[in-house]
Amino acid sequence: MGKMNAVKIDVGKRTAVVQTAAHRVDLNNVLLPHGLMFPAGHCPSVGIGGFLLQGGFGWNSRAWGVACESVLAIDVVNAEGELIHADNKQNSDYYWAARGAGCGYFAIATHFYLELKPLPKGIMSSRYILPIECLDELFLTLEQTAHKFPRSLEVGCFIGRDQDGFKEPTIAFYGDALAESEDEARYGFQLLDDLPVVKKAHHSTTFVPCTLADMLKRFDDLLDNAGLRYEANNFWTDAPMKHLLPNVHNIVNNLPPAPSHLYLFWWYPDHKPSDMAFSMQSNVWMSLYAIGQDPSKDEANHKYVIDSIKAMDPYSKGTQLADENLFGHPARFMQPKNFERLEKMRNKHDPRGRFFGHPRIPPEFEEIKAKLNYQEGSKMKAARL
Ligand SMILES: Cc1cc2nc3c(=O)[nH]c(=O)nc-3n(C[C@H](O)[C@H](O)[C@H](O)COP(=O)(O)OP(=O)(O)OC[C@H]3O[C@@H](n4cnc5c(N)ncnc54)[C@H](O)[C@@H]3O)c2cc1C
Repeated sequence: MGKMNAVKIDVGKRTAVVQTAAHRVDLNNVLLPHGLMFPAGHCPSVGIGGFLLQGGFGWNSRAWGVACESVLAIDVVNAEGELIHADNKQNSDYYWAARGAGCGYFAIATHFYLELKPLPKGIMSSRYILPIECLDELFLTLEQTAHKFPRSLEVGCFIGRDQDGFKEPTIAFYGDALAESEDEARYGFQLLDDLPVVKKAHHSTTFVPCTLADMLKRFDDLLDNAGLRYEANNFWTDAPMKHLLPNVHNIVNNLPPAPSHLYLFWWYPDHKPSDMAFSMQSNVWMSLYAIGQDPSKDEANHKYVIDSIKAMDPYSKGTQLADENLFGHPARFMQPKNFERLEKMRNKHDPRGRFFGHPRIPPEFEEIKAKLNYQEGSKMKAARL
């Protein structure tokens, strides 16, 4: 589907029709000259199709919601091979499932109809490179303060080796603001700058006004993944940080060489998602990446990433389909009632199983599937009798 990457916009209506294989970079290149934006993925290589199907934690998603909340409609090819249009009113099962089913969608999405956002005026960044000894203090402090940050401030950290010239692991703690005004952005950055822990930074660049293009380029340089082999796994948590810290230290002590990293994102949702398949979120998202070029390291990287995130299971709410590892570590990726609804839709719209569904599911979802298959079997038996 790689050639299906067209982007058409209607500037007056602030909408776009985007083919599934458009990448973030294709979309932004068309939108920016018109002062428009979409909460697309952070890196240029993120395909809009897979990104939107799983939810989409994109630029300014804390303020605008997960990206699939800005999908107005879709065109899909269904299991019968028909091209159909789906939204809230027509073929609504396909629309409900397209926003969160991720790799388990039961159709092929061809076009996404998107609501666009005006480009924010207060675009700024702050970045602190902290010694790893600050890890506990930073995480415990953010646990107390992150709920106060303005929605337009995205706060995260990358923990890895070889960052900013430091060989040993450091914490690149950052805030990016896409605020309505510079004042709003400055207010958020002041909250970060007032945290005592940031005074211990090796160095920092703070309150830096920038353009969206500058901000995107920073991520593009940081996460240029061409030709690299990734092993990823992640989890959502609301657990007290003090319970997570021993495992976090274990992860950091065993981190493979750069660009492998542990990423944390303080999401703190402010609303329940609308009625759609997507339903997995909580306060903090932690995601681990073992990255390299050498295939002989794949097995060790796989074991490290899976074991590290499995150790967090007692504190996990579930996994985000974006950087999931369902093969290695099947975990809850939506609320069970949403999974049940999705599977009922799958049985109805793809009864012959043309689409695979999720590659592996956790035992609680296996039970749901078995129950539905049993009911389906009983119905068919009754019909035959
Ligand atoms: C460097 C990097 C940075 C990232 N940053 C972010 C980020 O900031 N936020 C975020 O939320 N995610 C992020 N991701 C995760 C990203 O959203 C997923 O990897 C997503 O699946 C990529 O989309 P894709 O179209 O390339 O999907 P693919 O990898 O092609 O597909 C993923 C799954 O979806 C299915 N699928 C894809 N397209 C369709 C379609 N049109 N119809 C039906 N099924 C389809 C595929 O069959 C497959 O099972 C990042 C990933 C990388 C590698």
